[in-house]
Amino acid sequence: MRLTRDVSLVGGGDLGFNLSAPLDCHVYLLDGGDDLVLIDAGVGGTIGETETILANVRAAGYDPARISRLLLTHYHADHAGGAAELRDRLGLTVHGSPLTADVLDRGDEVAISLPFAKAAGFYPPDYTFQPCPAHGDLLDGQPFPVGRLTVTPLATPGHCRGHLSLLVTGGDRRYLLGGDLVFHGGTIIAQNIPDCSIQEYGDSVRKVAHLGFDALLPGHLQISLRNGKRHVDRAAHAFGQLGIPRNAI
Ligand SMILES: [Zn+2]
Repeated sequence: MRLTRDVSLVGGGDLGFNLSAPLDCHVYLLDGGDDLVLIDAGVGGTIGETETILANVRAAGYDPARISRLLLTHYHADHAGGAAELRDRLGLTVHGSPLTADVLDRGDEVAISLPFAKAAGFYPPDYTFQPCPAHGDLLDGQPFPVGRLTVTPLATPGHCRGHLSLLVTGGDRRYLLGGDLVFHGGTIIAQNIPDCSIQEYGDSVRKVAHLGFDALLPGHLQISLRNGKRHVDRAAHAFGQLGIPRNAI
């Protein structure tokens, strides 16, 4: 589903537009002209629908074989669980923050709080997080090109350790691909898991609120192609009042 000249939405589940498996995060395709990259992978494994995601890439008018890289916002299973299959299927390379890459390399289910998520009923008991070789070369404030676009990773921990948001410039507008940082209406996803930190969450939201961008492309729920910064500003205001924004789930 083409969102703009620069971005298509090619996956997403029950907390989105049901383009692919129910537990999938939004999966975005960035079109830099002579280079294509995916942002996040969906859940993968026995409950994933990697082939559906690839069919959605084709339906948006792209050859999946042209995708060079998968960029991960964070290591939660609904965002990173499908990385290994996409790597095997397309021969692409997988990239994240150093911590995300290390956890993915080892398939560390404890680090990603999968036992808690299973106990809460979010994932079936037999779901496994597939290890995947990954490059930990997405570094805070260090931009890199995707064709005519520029992607700047921003360290935004709080939702979990190693979380990144990606600022994309050089296209027809400025985009923030926020992962699970901020959602429509200024909501957040703060969870009762060991690596969720409210103080870091607030610092990350306020850091991103200082950026200029038009479109907020979050990891779940509604997408704002214009005026997206209002959602971040609303969450930043709540944190600035020493409160906690409303939880999105
Ligand atoms: Zn998450």
